[in-house]
Amino acid sequence: CSWSDGQVTTPEGYKDAYQLFAEGGWSGLGGNPVYGGMGMPKVLAAQFDEMVCSASLAFTLYPSLGAGASLAIDAHASDELKEAYLPQMYSGEWAGTMCLTEPHAGTDLGIIRTKAEDNGDGSHAITGTKIFITGGEHDLTDNIIHLVLAKLPDAPAGPKGISLFLVPKFLVNEDGSLGESNTLACGSIEHKMGINASATCVMNFDGAKGYLVGEPNKGLNAMFTMMNYERLFVGIQGLGSSEMSYQNALEYAQDRIQGRSANGAVQKDKAADPLMVHGDIRRMLLNMKALNEGGRAFSTYVAKQLDIAKFSQDEHEKEKASALVALLTPVVKAFLTDAGLESCIAGQQVFGGHGFIREWGQEQLVRDVRITQIYEGTNGIQALDLLGRKIALSGGAYLETFLGEVRSSVNSEDEFAEELLTAVDKLEELTRQLLAQSQNDPNVINSACVDYLNAFAYVAYGWVWSLMSKTASKKLAESSEDQPWLEAKQITARYYFKRILPRFESSAAAALSGTDELFTLSPDQF
Ligand SMILES: Cc1cc2nc3c(=O)[nH]c(=O)nc-3n(C[C@H](O)[C@H](O)[C@H](O)COP(=O)(O)OP(=O)(O)OC[C@H]3O[C@@H](n4cnc5c(N)ncnc54)[C@H](O)[C@@H]3O)c2cc1C
Repeated sequence: CSWSDGQVTTPEGYKDAYQLFAEGGWSGLGGNPVYGGMGMPKVLAAQFDEMVCSASLAFTLYPSLGAGASLAIDAHASDELKEAYLPQMYSGEWAGTMCLTEPHAGTDLGIIRTKAEDNGDGSHAITGTKIFITGGEHDLTDNIIHLVLAKLPDAPAGPKGISLFLVPKFLVNEDGSLGESNTLACGSIEHKMGINASATCVMNFDGAKGYLVGEPNKGLNAMFTMMNYERLFVGIQGLGSSEMSYQNALEYAQDRIQGRSANGAVQKDKAADPLMVHGDIRRMLLNMKALNEGGRAFSTYVAKQLDIAKFSQDEHEKEKASALVALLTPVVKAFLTDAGLESCIAGQQVFGGHGFIREWGQEQLVRDVRITQIYEGTNGIQALDLLGRKIALSGGAYLETFLGEVRSSVNSEDEFAEELLTAVDKLEELTRQLLAQSQNDPNVINSACVDYLNAFAYVAYGWVWSLMSKTASKKLAESSEDQPWLEAKQITARYYFKRILPRFESSAAAALSGTDELFTLSPDQF
C-alpha cells in the first residue's frame, strides 16, 4: 500500500479482486438476512475464511473487518443505524474498521483518551487519535464505516467508561446517498514486517460525527459480542497461512531431488531421490499436517458452539455452548496462530535456502502469519484470559463442562482411549495445582498461563484427533471410498499421539515451576 496526502492506494489488482469478492456475495456470508446478509452458520463461514486466508492474509483483512463491524452493529445498534448501514456493508459496497488502539493504550483499553461529546442532535463529536487501524483508509470501497471506542465526558474511569460509536468516512444522507466527508483523516500508514498489502493506519478524528452503538459506557460489552467471532477468525488466519505453507512444502518435497533414501535409492534413474524420502522432511510435513488438521477440527468445533449459542432454541444447550465458546476461544486464537508460525517456519525449512528467497513465497508466509500472534489481544493476553478469567473466575466450571464433553465421547475400545483419558486427568490435575499455587502467590496465573494454554491445547487437539480417527475407522469399515484419505487420518492421529501430545509434559512442567526465579532478578540483573 502507499499513502499520499491522506489517500491510501492498495496494490495493483486489489480493486478487481475485491470487486469479484463482493459481487460473489461473500461479504455478507454470515450476515443477518433481514438486512441482506446470507445468514450462513459460522461452521460454514469458518471453512471459507480459511481458504481466503490461505490465498492472501492481507487481502482477507479488508472484507473481514467489515464483517466484524457488521456483527457488532447488528447486535447492538438502533434499527435506524442497521437499516442505514448494514445492507451496504453486507454487499461489500462499504467496508468497516475497528478503532480501539491508541498510542498509549493497546492491551489496556481502559486508559483510552478519545472523547465523544453530545452534539444535541442524536450524534456525537468524536475527537482523538487511533493507531494501527487495519483498513482505516483505502481505495476499495465508496465508504468506510469506523467503529470507534471513545469516552463520554462524565464516563467512569477504566473499562467501564468506554462507549462505542459508528463513525462513517462519508456522512450518509437520509435517502441513503453519500454526503459530505466526515472530519476524520488517515495521517499515515505503518511500514511493517508483513501483510504489507493491508493498510495499517493512523486515524485522526477531529470532532467527527459519530452515532452511539448500544448503551453509553457499555462499549466494551458491545465489542465482546464480536470478540469471540474475531478471535476465532484470527486463529483461522494462522491455520490458513499454515495450510498454504504445508501445501507448498509438500509439492516441493516431492519435486526437489537431493540425497538418497536411507533404504537405498528410490529413483535409480535420477541423480538423487526426492526430499520426501528423508525422515526429517517427513517429520516436518507430518507436524504441519497434524497441527493443521487438528486445528481445523478444533476451530470448527468452536464455530459450531458459536452457532448453537446463537441459534439454538434450547436454553440449557445455549448456556453450555456459550461456556464452551468462552473457554475455548482464547485457545483457538493463541494456539492456532502459534502453530501457524511453527508450520510456516517448518514449510520454509523444507525449502532449504530457497525458503529464505522471496520468489518462492515461503518467507512471506512467515512474515505475514507473525501478526496473528499479536493483534486482537496478544497470545499472552489470550492465555491470561483462559487461566485467569475463564478458568479461575469460573471456579473451574467451564473447564469441567469441556472435560465432561471429552470424557463422554470416549469408548473403551477407541484406539486412543487410554492416552486421551490419561491426558485429560493430567490437565485436570495441572489446573488444580496451579489454582492452589495461585492462592499463595498472586504472580502464578500471569507467569504460568502461556505454558498452561499450550498444555490445554495439546489435550484438546488429542481429543479432536481421537474423534477423527474414530470416524475414519467407522467409515473405512463401511466402504472403501476415500480409503487412502481415511487411512491417512488414522496414521496422522497415531503420529499426533506419539510425537506431538508428549509436548504436554514439558508445558505442564514449565507451568508448575513456580515464580521464584522469574521474580528474584532485579531489573538491572536482566
Ligand atoms: C498490523 C497491525 C494491525 C492492527 N489492527 C488493529 C485494528 O484494526 N484495530 C485496533 O484497534 N488495533 C489494531 N492493532 C493493534 C493491536 O491489537 C495491538 O498492537 C495489540 O493489542 C497489543 O497492544 P500494544 O501494541 O499496545 O502492546 P502492549 O499492550 O503495550 O503490550 C506489550 C506486551 O506486553 C504484554 N502485556 C501487556 N499487558 C500485560 C499484562 N497485563 N500481563 C501480561 N502481559 C502483558 C503484551 O502481551 C505484549 O507482549 C493492530 C496492530 C498491528 C501491528
